[in-house]
Amino acid sequence: MRFVNSYLSKIKEYVIKNNLTYSIDTMGCQMNENDSLKYSGILESMGFKEADSKTANLILFNTCCVRENAENTLFGRLGFLKSRKIKEKNVYIVVVGCMSQQKHILDKIKVSYPFVDIVLGTNAMSIFPEKLYNAIINNKKSIEYIEVGNEIEEEVPIKYDDKFKASVSIIYGCNNFCSYCIVPYVRGRERSRTPQDIINDINELAKKGYKEIMLLGQNVNSYGNDFKEDSLKGYTFPKLLKEIEKINGIEIIRFMSPHPKDFSDELIETIKNSKKIARQIHLPLQSGSSKILKEMNRKYTKEKYLEIVEKLKKADKNISFSTDIIVGFPNETEQDFKETLDVVKKVGFDQVYMFIYSKRVGTRAANMTDETKPEEKVNRLERLKSLYEEMLPELNKKMIGKSYKVLVEGKSKNNDKLFTGRTSQNKVVVFEANKQDIGKIKNVEIESEHLWYLKGKIVDD
Ligand code: SF4
Repeated sequence: MRFVNSYLSKIKEYVIKNNLTYSIDTMGCQMNENDSLKYSGILESMGFKEADSKTANLILFNTCCVRENAENTLFGRLGFLKSRKIKEKNVYIVVVGCMSQQKHILDKIKVSYPFVDIVLGTNAMSIFPEKLYNAIINNKKSIEYIEVGNEIEEEVPIKYDDKFKASVSIIYGCNNFCSYCIVPYVRGRERSRTPQDIINDINELAKKGYKEIMLLGQNVNSYGNDFKEDSLKGYTFPKLLKEIEKINGIEIIRFMSPHPKDFSDELIETIKNSKKIARQIHLPLQSGSSKILKEMNRKYTKEKYLEIVEKLKKADKNISFSTDIIVGFPNETEQDFKETLDVVKKVGFDQVYMFIYSKRVGTRAANMTDETKPEEKVNRLERLKSLYEEMLPELNKKMIGKSYKVLVEGKSKNNDKLFTGRTSQNKVVVFEANKQDIGKIKNVEIESEHLWYLKGKIVDD
């Protein structure tokens, strides 16, 4: 479905005449961040200008529902806006994203926050301009539940916030139903964009000077499994990666997140043979205990996970790993937790996103009994954090003396004289450079490590 929307121009005159501004508050994952760029693109096509959240006329919350406390955050922020809505003219409040795809959230907004103007779910960008037109011109609110459809909205205006790096969604939704996860319920089933639409987007980005692409999806490596057309049947994620590799100008390809259960040998071979795919793989572990993984419905074991890591390390010893780990899943025992620590020791992750299990209403795990005390869960999280931070300097030290290709992103925030960028392994490096180097790929030799970043110097190619 192409995004053609007559409401964009219909409202533009009014928006410009009244100098209307917008601000977006994004919670959650990179998919949401990408969606927020699209909401920015839509609003700017309507004539809105970006402004500070304290003064903006339109405040859009792009919500996440992975963690329970996100709901409290949203309601706190909505409550804060009530007085502005009462006192000021031309203030509009919009809630979109995963949280607003849940009926109980809509009911709560209707009852406790009736001053909110628009609530839309996860797959409703094409009706947003019409809803906004009605809110602004006809003073008509829109808080209604809309099922997540199967359609993919193409050609939505997008406003990238970086000149050299861009994210591109390749697949929406998820079919996996991990027992703790709400995503399949709020983002629907897997829907892959066609290779042509993705390639067109990346070609355009390359023409504009973008060098690094992040391919996004809840489960990128099941890309293509849903294709029904004969011409696309059998089109896989590795095939897509090979096509993107051919695009001139794109130098670094990243993707997030692959699922271990779908990490095929073909994908490993494609990474091995690629000159552009980053030497960093984000491989969500969630737990190192095969028993807990089964309870989580992850469809792989500890051994299978370690086998993939070994194959990747064998394919290229420079590959670094990052992961997500849930601590304190219902009935995770001390032994189960030790299995997680064991995997962390064996893999040597450069980045670990760790969370204490958060119960989500509507998921299978929400009905599981849980004997583990909250303080025990906190203790496990701290032990995991300590292990990770103990191991990190050793991993960093292995990089000292070697040189890496780094995309120079800009000036360092903490030191005006230094510039910053990332290695293919996604390691932050600071080094001396010139303004003219921004956006270029430079060879940087690593000189020292500082836990969360490395220091280096530009060396000849
Ligand atoms: S793969 Fe599992 S954890 Fe990831 S979005 Fe799908 S259901 Fe959630």
